[in-house]
Amino acid sequence: MTESIDCAVIGAGVVGLAIARALATTGHDVIVLEATDAIGTGTSSRNSEVIHAGIYYPKNSLKALMCVRGKQLLYEYCESRGVEHRRIGKLLVATTDDQISALEKLRDSAAANGVTDLKWIEGAALKKLEPELRAVGAFLSPSTGIIDSHGLMLAYQGEAEDAGAMIAFNSPVRKGHIEKDGIVLSIGGEEPMTLSCRTVINSAGLYAQFIAASIEGLDRQHIPPCHFAKGNYFTLSGRAPFSRPIYPIPEAAGLGIHLTLDLGGQAKFGPDVEWLADLPWLEDDSHITGIDYTVDPARGERFYAAIRTYWPGLPDNSLLPGYAGIRPKIQAPDEAAKDYMIQGPNEHGINGLVNLFGIESPGLTSSLAIAEEVLKKLA
Ligand SMILES: Cc1cc2nc3c(=O)[nH]c(=O)nc-3n(C[C@H](O)[C@H](O)[C@H](O)COP(=O)(O)OP(=O)(O)OC[C@H]3O[C@@H](n4cnc5c(N)ncnc54)[C@H](O)[C@@H]3O)c2cc1C
Repeated sequence: MTESIDCAVIGAGVVGLAIARALATTGHDVIVLEATDAIGTGTSSRNSEVIHAGIYYPKNSLKALMCVRGKQLLYEYCESRGVEHRRIGKLLVATTDDQISALEKLRDSAAANGVTDLKWIEGAALKKLEPELRAVGAFLSPSTGIIDSHGLMLAYQGEAEDAGAMIAFNSPVRKGHIEKDGIVLSIGGEEPMTLSCRTVINSAGLYAQFIAASIEGLDRQHIPPCHFAKGNYFTLSGRAPFSRPIYPIPEAAGLGIHLTLDLGGQAKFGPDVEWLADLPWLEDDSHITGIDYTVDPARGERFYAAIRTYWPGLPDNSLLPGYAGIRPKIQAPDEAAKDYMIQGPNEHGINGLVNLFGIESPGLTSSLAIAEEVLKKLA
């Protein structure tokens, strides 16, 4: 059976739902095709739930632009729709004098992105703010916050559905091909079907490259590589020692083993960086549901050492393996960080197709700005 639709969004993560909302509320007929049986089962429910300020990303990169614009849109959205969040700020800490220059570089990078509110704190003032912290100084980022990511996705879903969008669960996209008037997708699951779409937004997170590669007629030169970097978290048993997130100097491919708090005040540490062998693409879709997200308790040893550089009071045996998420990176482990790739007809020449690649952090913060960008690509 072949059905027709104006717009199909592949993936009901936070980015796909933000795009579905933007399309539906601007008058498009939208279906969201989701392989699993619920929204947000992928990376969108496996992250730090931090609203990032826009500090780390190179000037004018998509990550910088989307993060700074997305943060502003997200705070406005949360306030107007009652999505739980707190603008609690965060501390970027130097634990030794020779780390101060690295922090100053981050301050300059933030300023280049328009984030000019970082404030240097040291000595008694820092002790007063966070008595258990050991640091020679820190930048306070007041515009950083924390958010209920599931509440956010429910809000996007609700608004998209109110505007007429439909979410088709258990609907894995297997492949596609280009026709004169659009893109035809083959969908698996219990009731396989083909869907003829004027517009397709490939927002499948970890599997965006696989889907793009399955679309006959899309030149392979437009599909970047995909490498997976797992991020493991450990939770702290007992009371959180700090009242705001604490971030050390970033490491290659991650932001360092930082502390974040959830809205209930529970402290978690991570994510670290564990490069995985490339994930397979399996005909029965078990690649999507079968990802191993378990956290190896042995990784805890490195966490104790890293955390004690800024919190010497971390008690023995107080870290418990938590959860993990996977970053879809475009760069290989030995390569420099790469930017998001959001490709529309101008980039790959196919009308109505937008591919989103490498949507790692700060994708949650950026979701509303990414949705704006996708709409621009289609205009
Ligand atoms: C460890 C970690 C920490 C992070 N921390 C933060 C943070 O604090 N702040 C922040 O802003 N960002 C953070 N991020 C980034 C953020 O979580 C992601 O950028 C964001 O969740 C990506 O959303 P998405 O919708 O693109 O992908 P996903 O959430 O992965 O959604 C993709 C969806 O596509 C579906 N899908 C896959 N294949 C198919 C198919 N063939 N057919 C149909 N559906 C399919 C999947 O089931 C899934 O539901 C973090 C990421 C990680 C990994």
